[in-house]
Amino acid sequence: MNQVLCECGFAVRDDDEDRVVEVVLQHVSATHPDLVEDVTPAVVRGWIEVVP
Ligand SMILES: [Zn+2]
Repeated sequence: MNQVLCECGFAVRDDDEDRVVEVVLQHVSATHPDLVEDVTPAVVRGWIEVVP
């Protein structure tokens, strides 16, 4: 399972890494619009942790 925990406490978990990236990008644009320019799909991939 791939997981990303946002600094605000928002968490995404999915077996599909691409779906995790998509959900995080949507979350960032909705909740952290000031970060949109810095958070690219490559950056989000770097945040993914593999959890059981
Ligand atoms: Zn957040």
